[in-house]
Amino acid sequence: MDMHEENSYALQDSCGVFGCIAAENVDLTDFGLANNIFLGLLGIQHRGQESAGIVTGDGDLIYQHKGMGLVSNVFKEEDIKSMKGFMGIGHNRYSTMGSSKLVNCQPFVVDTAQNWIAVAHNGELVNADSLRQKVLASNVGLSTKSDSELITQLLSRRPPCGEPEGANWRARIKMLMNDTQCSYALAILTKDGIFGVRDPYGNRPLCVGKILRSIEHGAMECVGWVLSSESCSFPSMGAEKMYDVEPGEIVHLTRKGVSHLEIVQPLRAEDPSAFCIFEYVYFARADTFFEGQMVYNVREECGRQLAVEARADADLVSTVPESATPAAMGYAQTSGIPYVEVLTRNRYVGRTFIQPSTRLRKLGVGRKFGPLTANFVGKRIVLVDDSIVRGNTISPIIKVLREAGAAEVHVRVASPPVKFPCYMGINIPTKEELIANFLSPDELAKHVGADSLAYLSIEGLHSAVRKGIRSNNNKQYGHCTACLSGKYPVELEW
Ligand code: SF4
Repeated sequence: MDMHEENSYALQDSCGVFGCIAAENVDLTDFGLANNIFLGLLGIQHRGQESAGIVTGDGDLIYQHKGMGLVSNVFKEEDIKSMKGFMGIGHNRYSTMGSSKLVNCQPFVVDTAQNWIAVAHNGELVNADSLRQKVLASNVGLSTKSDSELITQLLSRRPPCGEPEGANWRARIKMLMNDTQCSYALAILTKDGIFGVRDPYGNRPLCVGKILRSIEHGAMECVGWVLSSESCSFPSMGAEKMYDVEPGEIVHLTRKGVSHLEIVQPLRAEDPSAFCIFEYVYFARADTFFEGQMVYNVREECGRQLAVEARADADLVSTVPESATPAAMGYAQTSGIPYVEVLTRNRYVGRTFIQPSTRLRKLGVGRKFGPLTANFVGKRIVLVDDSIVRGNTISPIIKVLREAGAAEVHVRVASPPVKFPCYMGINIPTKEELIANFLSPDELAKHVGADSLAYLSIEGLHSAVRKGIRSNNNKQYGHCTACLSGKYPVELEW
């Protein structure tokens, strides 16, 4: 299954954030600030396709442009040219809290007693309801249902008694972090720079990088710094990753460089960090690096582990294009069964606004995938998918393969069964809609028309993820598996 397809109703990511600032003494006409942010947002387009926005600043004025739709539709050349300044942040949105309307587009901008701020948020606050009541009770109005607006208002609060009126943004961010534990990765633009903040559980990803420009004799100079949900957005603007922002860390990007401000611990000291393991399974782009390892390699390792746990007798291993391809390759390497493609994908399906007739809609996947018939007629296929959520996308694919002449189809899923909802920013269907809560693997195989079906175990997924981790400081961080195990990293309010 490819969750990044349009019209996919499986799992959806919650948003992507990006920030960029030019170094001192850099020629801003050559630097292309808004263009860099535009490219950065394009690079993380898979994290949200409903709306996009950019806010830039020159230390005094701010410039903003937002709109509904894909990044390339929202920004025209004249919009990019009109956005001045030496720093800015951007956001791609997929709505988890608050509807898909222009009013909810980010970054949110508010004027405060300490000048304006703009905020871009990825994640979802598990205690949003009580915080909302708290904010409203303090006579502050809210114009949307979005928890990201809530964060923006909380940041603009007066500092507590005893702190000077002009207490700095760092103090306000810490106040926010003590009130809102999970989950958020934030890019916050102020008059003087950009703050990058990751919640104390490290549930959503965030990393920093530097923009390099070649100078004489093959040497490189740093001309600016970037902040992003994923490092895959860096190469398009000549940037390279420096490091992941740590769980609970506040970093500050100014025209002089990136500085670490501090690390805020979770409220309960015994709570482990909980980076979303599904970022590895399929939210992130395969060329992104988290915790020192490339997502593609982790997916390959999941496939290898799956072959150890659930080898099938078959003639070839294949993939549901394209997100399951690395796992299928890994499965093939370990099982010794050759990797052969059995489906080709029509990249333009989903881009049309013409709705098919009922007969054509029933053919469904037949429009998305074409069978590479000559590769598999009469053969036994291991078909690797990256996940099964409702179970309604894999059965039409199996039907296509069988009708085209496959002798057997054995489904292998490179992640464990999804059984629980996510309250931390990923839109997972309710428990009643998750097929793994009702059907065992054998029953599910029958239901989808496969000869057999097996999932990767939770331990197998953990070991695939842990194998290549090289963190900034050699610390091992924990991973959230709540949608698989039902063990949530934080106490839920309900
Ligand atoms: S519940 Fe699942 S999707 Fe949500 S943060 Fe945890 S691992 Fe990620």
